[in-house]
Amino acid sequence: MQKLSFKNRIAFHYIITTALLIFVVFSAIYSIVKYSVYNHLNTDISREVENHLSEIEVKDDNFRLVHLEEWNEREHNTLDVNPVFIQFLNANKESIEKSPNLKSENLKFNFSTENYELYDTKLLNNKIRQIQVPIYSGSKLIGYLLVAMSLEGAAMVLTNLSEILLIAYPLILVLLFFIARFIAGRSIKPISAIIETANIITKDNLKSRIVLPQKKDELFVLSQTINSLLDRIETTIDREKQFTSDASHELRTPLTVIKGTLEVLIRKPRDNEEYQNKIKYCISEVNRLNHLVDQLLLLARFENQNQSLKIEELSLNSIISEVLSRYSTVIETKKCKISSNFSEDFTVKSDHYLLAIVLNNLISNALKYSKENATLQIQLSSSTEQVECAIIDSGIGIAESDLEKIFHQFYRSNVGEHPEIKGTGLGLSIVRKLCFLLKVNIVISSKENSGTRVVLSFPKTSLTES
Ligand code: ADP
Repeated sequence: MQKLSFKNRIAFHYIITTALLIFVVFSAIYSIVKYSVYNHLNTDISREVENHLSEIEVKDDNFRLVHLEEWNEREHNTLDVNPVFIQFLNANKESIEKSPNLKSENLKFNFSTENYELYDTKLLNNKIRQIQVPIYSGSKLIGYLLVAMSLEGAAMVLTNLSEILLIAYPLILVLLFFIARFIAGRSIKPISAIIETANIITKDNLKSRIVLPQKKDELFVLSQTINSLLDRIETTIDREKQFTSDASHELRTPLTVIKGTLEVLIRKPRDNEEYQNKIKYCISEVNRLNHLVDQLLLLARFENQNQSLKIEELSLNSIISEVLSRYSTVIETKKCKISSNFSEDFTVKSDHYLLAIVLNNLISNALKYSKENATLQIQLSSSTEQVECAIIDSGIGIAESDLEKIFHQFYRSNVGEHPEIKGTGLGLSIVRKLCFLLKVNIVISSKENSGTRVVLSFPKTSLTES
């Protein structure tokens, strides 16, 4: 059974059910035909009994046929399709009179059957159906009337019918098996197309798609689902490829710069100051590389979104203060002014470590993309549903067309105009991933050369409740 192909299995199951059904139908046909044939015969015999009983005359405990000669003649001349055999017996079961068609034969009296009971017996090896009816004079039994009719016709009908049904039964089943197999084969044809397409799909060839069947049935839905699954796999693999190539490019750039600087440096002896400058430059590139590797590791860590979050009640004010103190040197160097309205304490339910990464990236960007003496505003507010944190800078801003793209990995806006501002293009993609994990809504609005506003909205319902 395991080795049967799918279409043969469908056909096999179908045929088992059909075989049972046909068996029931054929049995019913045979029983109905048999019943009606016998019923017909029984009616004929009963009619004959009635006719003959009305033709006898009982006298002095004896009986006789009223019109014997007429009767003999009639019995002799009547051409019946199914001949009727009549015999009269006396009380001692001895023959008195019989129809001429019996010739030298006699109908046998059956002691084991009841009077008036119809039963099958034989006359000269031919099947007959017979009845024996007692004849009374008052309450005294004076004889019997035996009536029989040939069963040959009925037997022939029934034999023929059973033979036809027995031959037709396996033939119909074999025929139905092949028809079912053919239909099943045709119905699952789209599956072969799916298998064929699936076979030619490899990691490097994800372009092929399953041709959708014309009928919008389950196989259509299956093909559609597989196609959209392939679409998603293709997008993911393309993104992975893009990420790998971007990451290797980003990693190679500082290494090439360091290598080039050092190679130029050792070509001939330099003065101390030049050595110091070049080494400082290399250190800054190594720092950049370090930062890049850190961010790549962060991204890889949060790629798996099943991160277990450590949700607790956190003071937004103190996390922001922690981040600001981390950037105190930059704030001082750039002479930035920090304006914050921390009149009250704003608490949110979130993960401390991840939230600190988000705020760190956003405040670092706000400072990085601001000019000297700029003002950085951090505003906290709260409503019944959420706590909002807005980080507003008056820096270089972002072109409107780039607002969508800045969340993409390695995407950097304004690189050409501001080559002095270094970055990896990974910060905001990390922020977006973490905001998703923490269920924090982030909206960035910006105007070029005027400033950027980033708003984080923390829902007041706990993360664990949702
Ligand atoms: P980067 O390491 O380049 O800062 P991010 O992912 O943090 O990478 O930011 C992506 C890009 O978005 C940046 O290159 C920059 O062009 C733009 N950007 C982000 N924050 C700001 C901001 N506060 N002001 C201006 N531009 C910004």
